[in-house]
Amino acid sequence: METYDLIVVGVGSMGSATCYALAGRGLKVLGIERHRLGHEFGSHLGQSRLIRKAYFEHADYVPLLQRAYELWDEVEAQTGCQLFYRTGLLYHGRPDHDLISGSLYSAATYRIEMQEINPAEVHKAYPQFTLPPDYVSYLEPDAGFLRPELAIQMMGAFAQSHGVDLHFDEWMTDYVRSGQGWAVHTNRAVYSCEKLIITSGAWTSRLLPQLTLHLRVTRQILGWLHKKSGPGVSLQQFPCWILADDTLGGAFYGFPELPPDPFGMPSGLKIAHHHPGMEILPEDKDQSIQAHELEALEYGLRVYLGEVKGSWSSFQHCMYTMSPDEHFVLDQLPGHPGVWIAAGFSGHGFKFAPVIGEIMADLATSASSALPISFLSLKRFQKPENPFHR
Ligand SMILES: Cc1cc2nc3c(=O)[nH]c(=O)nc-3n(C[C@H](O)[C@H](O)[C@H](O)COP(=O)(O)OP(=O)(O)OC[C@H]3O[C@@H](n4cnc5c(N)ncnc54)[C@H](O)[C@@H]3O)c2cc1C
Repeated sequence: METYDLIVVGVGSMGSATCYALAGRGLKVLGIERHRLGHEFGSHLGQSRLIRKAYFEHADYVPLLQRAYELWDEVEAQTGCQLFYRTGLLYHGRPDHDLISGSLYSAATYRIEMQEINPAEVHKAYPQFTLPPDYVSYLEPDAGFLRPELAIQMMGAFAQSHGVDLHFDEWMTDYVRSGQGWAVHTNRAVYSCEKLIITSGAWTSRLLPQLTLHLRVTRQILGWLHKKSGPGVSLQQFPCWILADDTLGGAFYGFPELPPDPFGMPSGLKIAHHHPGMEILPEDKDQSIQAHELEALEYGLRVYLGEVKGSWSSFQHCMYTMSPDEHFVLDQLPGHPGVWIAAGFSGHGFKFAPVIGEIMADLATSASSALPISFLSLKRFQKPENPFHR
């Protein structure tokens, strides 16, 4: 039985970042991944992910984001690869909507630059949008998008080149207490380790039924539009955007049109609806879009990007893993010394990947993190007053 100091289960968004953070710490580390780096079956497919600091979900995330920004710069420098495109991000919504009030609260608390843009200026500078008259708009200049598949490949390759073993097409089936550590069973072998980090995304409830948290896995549709007419939406002309919607709930968001090269297929203007979709099993690979999913994207396009005309060129589906309060879970698995989990990223985790990796590496090696993460512990679910209920 091969022995490791630490095993990371699931080398996707958070697992690749954890392997990256563990590289060079003088530990013998194994990462086990069911598929390949940057594959299309998890929660990270789709070419782009928003990154922003004025966090409407909760201001307590901002210190983690500040560190994530530093670490994205470091990952880019270490790998020589651009992963973060600072296009700026436009926020649109009614002033009392959480998306606006929460973002402004985080921006004011942490002095994050947010520029208010009045409707006439929005119309002039961003003629792509058709907004309700009572919507307000803000631009966060130091925001933009990340490239998820490439980031995972880069962090994984960096970890490998610094001595971390990565095993692909292999999956953990069980783990059992063995002496002071753990025996990790996979479809191929049994390994022993002192510490175990589980970053298995949508499969977490399967691996950890004792977690007793209801982690709902939902199906989320991404649509790419081939623009035929209307104002320009290219990378040079158009920022990322997020827009509160009261009719279907949640928010619509999108990215500039990315050219096929160097971004890979599909190309076009990507639009999505940030709202938990249908609950599914994580292995559901049905890529066909259902009528109500298409209607939601068409509604978002018609109502809010009314000046942009085109035809859908591609759809993909991806998964959210929703925690009960839609906030992350970073903690030790109760009753399992040395087993740490990073789960329930609830559709907003990718931008944090390198800081989650650093936190998990610190927790597993020293049982503490210098960053303020107690608000993400499992204990909040035991308290009658969950700190996230404002
Ligand atoms: C459509 C969509 C849009 C999103 N937009 C944004 C955004 O704009 N900004 C943002 O910050 N976040 C966004 N997110 C959220 C973000 O992508 C996720 O929070 C993040 O990818 C979750 O990472 P993860 O590591 O938990 O899961 P994954 O990246 O899926 O990694 C889990 C890995 O574990 C592996 N695995 C599972 N079981 C096993 C096993 N038994 N053994 C070995 N390996 C195993 C899987 O194969 C997978 O590779 C979005 C998500 C979706 C679906």
